[in-house]
Amino acid sequence: MTEILIKNAETILTMDDTRRELSGADILIRGGQIDQIGHGLQTTGEVHVATGCVVTPGLVNTHHHLYQSLTRAVPGGQDALLFGWLKTLYPIWSRFGPEEMFVSAQIGLAELALSGCTLSSDHLYLYPNGARLDDTIAAAAEIGMRFHPTRGAMSIGESDGGLPPDALVEKEQAILDDMIRVVDAFHDPSEGAMCRVGLAPCSPFSVSRDLMRNAAILARDKGVMLHTHLAENDEDIAYSQAQFGCRPGQYAEELGWTGPDVWHAHCVKLDEAEIDLFARTQTGVAHCPCSNCRLGSGIAPVRAMRDHGVPVGLGVDGSASNDSGNLILEARQAMLLQRVANGADAMSSREVLEIATRGGADVLNRPDCGRLEPGKRADIAIWDTSCIESAGSWDPAALLLAGPVKVKHLFVEGRQIVCDGHVTSLDMPRVIERQNQLARALQV
Ligand SMILES: [Zn+2]
Repeated sequence: MTEILIKNAETILTMDDTRRELSGADILIRGGQIDQIGHGLQTTGEVHVATGCVVTPGLVNTHHHLYQSLTRAVPGGQDALLFGWLKTLYPIWSRFGPEEMFVSAQIGLAELALSGCTLSSDHLYLYPNGARLDDTIAAAAEIGMRFHPTRGAMSIGESDGGLPPDALVEKEQAILDDMIRVVDAFHDPSEGAMCRVGLAPCSPFSVSRDLMRNAAILARDKGVMLHTHLAENDEDIAYSQAQFGCRPGQYAEELGWTGPDVWHAHCVKLDEAEIDLFARTQTGVAHCPCSNCRLGSGIAPVRAMRDHGVPVGLGVDGSASNDSGNLILEARQAMLLQRVANGADAMSSREVLEIATRGGADVLNRPDCGRLEPGKRADIAIWDTSCIESAGSWDPAALLLAGPVKVKHLFVEGRQIVCDGHVTSLDMPRVIERQNQLARALQV
């Protein structure tokens, strides 16, 4: 079995159960797993000297729409609130096809990898012109990132009182049939899996109550997870109260959308009772601070969620509402926002790094990821703190205060997918050029 030794790290932040931090220590990888962590380890295999580097678990991204990397900074959507922003972008997205999905996923996943991410979820909820979930799964396999794509959906178009144009919605039976197809084709429940599929109707305002309920039944039948957007902003709460006569948390609970196999994006507006509901049922939250700032949605009550025991992970959200997909910067933004809301001692650099690693892994039901300890998957980020951003730092391991914003090396399942700041599997200038060609074609 292949062995790789990461040798003499300045600091290893393990994020294990006791949050151990080791100085001058090594990590031995065998196959896809961490074999040992300690001092003076030896191998006859490959050696990576990590002197001057901080080593962390790979970061985990719990919410994204990779396809949106083709619609960054669209002028009509730059300053709009959520619903107006969506209405600007829907007609552009309706012109996407399989190549747009594949190339935008290559870009989005490469951007994540360069910022230390080893496991990403994705929420793809529109399938125009023959696009399929398969297109994004192919992009993740090429890069070598651990991937949790979700089969999203929209079924209520404008003519039925919904927000999306009719051309972007699908028939509910066709949605359920394709959910079954992609789970059967791609979902791997085993430990160390590189691909797990979830089911993810887009939001309570773009699908019917029936589809929400049927997706939950199907997910339990197949043993896969459920994901959607919930309680994102004030408009979202008002819509829920007007259409369903209740708050989003109650709506989710009635339809079977709570439990440890469910995670919701945003949850900016959860009230105390809803936080209590999520804690009791161990329903997860994907916190997306940059997107929430960008769309003026508010500050999610992450401090209260954590204090009550709600599982919280981080998400960069789609690149049409961020517009960056840098996960380590997203973690920094999460830390800063909780300090704006609750004071400077409300959230430390290390706590947010924990949310970004084991926190996200737990939200995605991946206890085999997100921490560095023997027996866990070898998903490892190596940060070079001899860079300009860390120069003069008294605590280089406080990465979110003064650390690098780009990873040096990145390993997924023991395979190196970033080497010296470059994605190993892609001809990056060529992919960027193709992405820009596709973006220009959409502007005509
Ligand atoms: Zn989203």
